[in-house]
Amino acid sequence: MANQDEFFKKVVAHAKEYGFIFPSSEIYDGLAAVYDYGQMGVELKNNIKQYWWRAMVQMHENIVGLDSAIFMHPRIWKASGHVDAFNDPLIDNKDSKKRYRADVLIEDHIAKIEDKIEKECEKAHKRFGDAFDRQQFVTTNARVLEHQKQIDEIQAKYAELMNANDLVGLKQLILDLGIVCPISGTRNWTDVRQFNLMFATKMGSVIDDSDTLYLRPETAQGIFVNFLNVQKSGRMKVPFGIAQIGKAFRNEIVARQFIFRMREFEQMEMQFFVRPGTELEWFKRWKEERLQWHLALGIPEECYRFHDHEKLAHYANAATDIEFRFPFGFKELEGIHSRTDFDLSRHSEFSGKKLQYFDSELNENYTPYVIETSIGVDRMFLAVFSHALKEESLEDGSTRTVLNLPARLAPYKAAVLPLVKKDGLPEKAREVQHLLMPEMMVQYDEKDAIGRRYRRQDAIGTPFCITVDNDTLENGAVTVRHRDSMQQERVAIDQLLPYLKARL
Ligand code: ATP
Repeated sequence: MANQDEFFKKVVAHAKEYGFIFPSSEIYDGLAAVYDYGQMGVELKNNIKQYWWRAMVQMHENIVGLDSAIFMHPRIWKASGHVDAFNDPLIDNKDSKKRYRADVLIEDHIAKIEDKIEKECEKAHKRFGDAFDRQQFVTTNARVLEHQKQIDEIQAKYAELMNANDLVGLKQLILDLGIVCPISGTRNWTDVRQFNLMFATKMGSVIDDSDTLYLRPETAQGIFVNFLNVQKSGRMKVPFGIAQIGKAFRNEIVARQFIFRMREFEQMEMQFFVRPGTELEWFKRWKEERLQWHLALGIPEECYRFHDHEKLAHYANAATDIEFRFPFGFKELEGIHSRTDFDLSRHSEFSGKKLQYFDSELNENYTPYVIETSIGVDRMFLAVFSHALKEESLEDGSTRTVLNLPARLAPYKAAVLPLVKKDGLPEKAREVQHLLMPEMMVQYDEKDAIGRRYRRQDAIGTPFCITVDNDTLENGAVTVRHRDSMQQERVAIDQLLPYLKARL
């Protein structure tokens, strides 16, 4: 754990040092859980959004995009249930005066038991070597089974309490599990209370008769209230989807873990409208398709896992999270929810407008059911960034810091480096830079020794360094150095564009 903490600190420091992420309002000592994306961060973030948009909108003829406003009619949040139920249960420790989410305290407790199972597996793996069969071990080993039973019992109890909104019971569970405050180490807890996460503001110049508005806590409702607009104007036929990328705001109780949990963040959400009765089939398909989207980036499969929900939101009939192995353990990266006809029905009820679809094949009207896929841009950023950051020991005994980002997400695709700052090499290098610029993000760098320039590009994740040397002037070829293997090869300048494009 100590190592993980150290590593996470490195992630945060690296993000700042190389212009990926800065604390918001830093010269005023920052603003809790709000961050700014710097010159590198904005590129990586845009590439993530583009990768999602391409996969969801460009590659599906039955999914279209939307960009709805952040401000929406206040009744929308009444209809969606957010005014009454978008709460987190909070609890304070009376000694440390620290505030926690009661559900997170319980989740962390479960994670500790999962760690114990992991340790048993590691020990057994060492003992049995290659013959170790994890599946067999976790289903037969007495200690593991005991731990698993504990986890199952806690999860069942927790789901029961949350479904019943039993806050007294929740506090009792925290006491029964012996959960202590990580700061004070005591069990001196207050009662559990509900806290609404929406930011409220006022619209209009006269405060008294102005309406209370909310900054949207999710982008999804903008999609639901535009269901008919898009369906009719786009002549969309069920099944079809509407995708949106945009900011969302939540007044999180405990904001820590860097950009994992922010108060202002960005979501990429897609609502897929289907015939009632087919939703679980579509849920399965989207679960698989979304996992494939992640895996296509080349991050190993063992970094992902599904977590099917025990406690379903009142509107859902199936829900799962795609969890990612962040530096602080497996946590939710994306949610996939089967939301039934809850949202469209509620908006029909609250607006008085019928949000239905006439299915000409069935010759009937119905309220479509919805499968939602919802992923945080910032969490995705943290996932790829933290997975990519590596400290490598090289054969010559030195070390290097490298960000081996998937090439398609890297802020800069190539850097053009004249070997020395004279003999016409900078001019030639500028030519190469201008050749590539219309096609990709390219950096030009002539300062410092070539080795140091390579290291700077490694640290921001540039997949290719292109070096212009004296031979280039003679034979029109440059050296291409690969970030991950550090292998170098000569490529003719007139072949450079197709060469790079084939590898990006
Ligand atoms: P959590 O349980 O971690 O609070 P959630 O279940 O409330 O998340 P959803 O409402 O399903 O999250 O939101 C969809 C996605 O939006 C999440 O999977 C996550 O990637 C992202 N997200 C949610 N809250 C935040 C936040 N405060 N900061 C950054 N990303 C967030």
